[in-house]
Amino acid sequence: MGFKTKFIFVTGGVLSSLGKGLASAAIGALLESRGLTVTLQKLDPYINVDPGTMNPFQHGEVFVTDDGAETDLDLGHYERFTSAKMGCNNNFTSGKIYYSVIMKERRGDYLGGTVQVIPHITDEIKRCIRLVAKDVDVVIVEIGGTIGDIESLPFLEAIRQFRSDVGKQNAIYIHLTLVPYIKTAGEVKTKPTQHSVKELRSIGIQPDILLCRTEKELTKEIKAKIALFCNLDVDAVITAKDVETVYEVPLFFHREGLDEKIVELLNIWTRAPKLKHWEELVKKVKNPEDEVTIGIVGKYIDLRESYKSLNEALVHGGVANNARVILRYIDSEDLEKAERGYTGKDVEGMLMSVDGILVPGGFGSRGIEGKINAVRFARENRIPFLGICLGMQMAVIEFARNVAHLEGAHSTEFDENTKFPVIYLMKEWYDYKSGEVQRREVCSQKGGTMRLGSYPCSLKTDSLAFRVYGKSQIAERHRHRYEFNNKYRKILEEKGLKMTGTSPDGELVEIVELKDHPWFLGCQFHPEFKSRPMDPHPLFRAFIRAALENRKQASV
Ligand code: GLN
Repeated sequence: MGFKTKFIFVTGGVLSSLGKGLASAAIGALLESRGLTVTLQKLDPYINVDPGTMNPFQHGEVFVTDDGAETDLDLGHYERFTSAKMGCNNNFTSGKIYYSVIMKERRGDYLGGTVQVIPHITDEIKRCIRLVAKDVDVVIVEIGGTIGDIESLPFLEAIRQFRSDVGKQNAIYIHLTLVPYIKTAGEVKTKPTQHSVKELRSIGIQPDILLCRTEKELTKEIKAKIALFCNLDVDAVITAKDVETVYEVPLFFHREGLDEKIVELLNIWTRAPKLKHWEELVKKVKNPEDEVTIGIVGKYIDLRESYKSLNEALVHGGVANNARVILRYIDSEDLEKAERGYTGKDVEGMLMSVDGILVPGGFGSRGIEGKINAVRFARENRIPFLGICLGMQMAVIEFARNVAHLEGAHSTEFDENTKFPVIYLMKEWYDYKSGEVQRREVCSQKGGTMRLGSYPCSLKTDSLAFRVYGKSQIAERHRHRYEFNNKYRKILEEKGLKMTGTSPDGELVEIVELKDHPWFLGCQFHPEFKSRPMDPHPLFRAFIRAALENRKQASV
């Protein structure tokens, strides 16, 4: 492009959950549609080194990248909205930044100096930002948290300095705020935005663009008022109105003139944006011809925020089949009680009306038996079934218990003394990424011992998996500790459980299928991380198609 890499810093004000991640991703999509190359980075002010150890209910999904980083779920938005590839350098936390500064201090890198937030932490933050600034036109850096938080100060100071380092036309600040509509007054209020901008300016950052999250379209007068109070051009005040589908956000921003303003401020000359594929996508999401209901069986508290990528992948699968996917969350603990007749609800009652059953990944023993019941229901009633990670492990356990009659078969994660540990901690396995044999100690169960990131998998040609993918070599992302126990391979295979995907050396079972079932597949990996709205993942595409067929058959 002939210019230096440009930087966009996205901050958030007033309160959290305004959709900063989505806004950043949408900005990325718009710049790509103008022919620019982009990448995105998330800077999170919390102290955890990565979100891998955080409670998913509090933090939401942990998104896993090809290189095995456990990252903030916003990186999932970035990958779904743009073609940028995320990796360990695209997400830094305060913990990670301090950790590396402290390591340097211990090594003696600072030559006896006093190590301080300014300049040492701020310099480290700036170094980390520059890490992703290679071979791209624009880097979009999202700062987690809300302006006013104590923890975010070093990050804000670093990005403040950054503009002086790279020059005015090479860095801009975009601030996302809330403009609430007050029903009793019948009008929108700009005060929270004014305060938030004031706070930002007090630390030396004057935003160049404001994204105003609001229920109502902002009138010219309101925009002029905000512009005046916040010291901005009127066309730099952008309405970020609630939309029906997240994929509408880039189109909405474009109509508001956001991408035009960004390239003007950054002094970049680009072609006009090509947004046809986004328009078509939104049309498909909003006006599908068909609909299908998928039952997602999980722990109650995991069911919403912690499956962002999964929910999106199901939407993508629907788009590929011109169908709206209705998600029915089923608490697996209810399915447990149901069998014991406690609630009056029965397994059948809850699962009968769904067209496909999905058991997603998870940790912890709550609701495990309910998940196993759900698998059994899908197997016996020939309902399309997709088991992901823990869901695949449940499928193996269910089959071992109820078909192969290995009574009490379990994963050692939930029953250390099970007689038939069909899922267990593999002590040694060959790691393709490092080219070394990995050893896992039973006593070191938390952190650092998971199989993480992209691993190759070879598919048997005579399988559902091969038909779905249309090729025999695939690579998918992992995040788990436990594996299929090869000791039981033969007996389960004899009974009709097919191991159709394995690591290239055949040692790690990656996909299981049922011999006599229309559509039943469990995978040890997480396909949802690689699904894109413009390129739905083959497994979700095929699973939704099978569920649609099941529905049509049931209605004749
Ligand atoms: N708890 C299981 C394991 O660690 C599954 C993890 C998951 O579903 N991501 O192997």
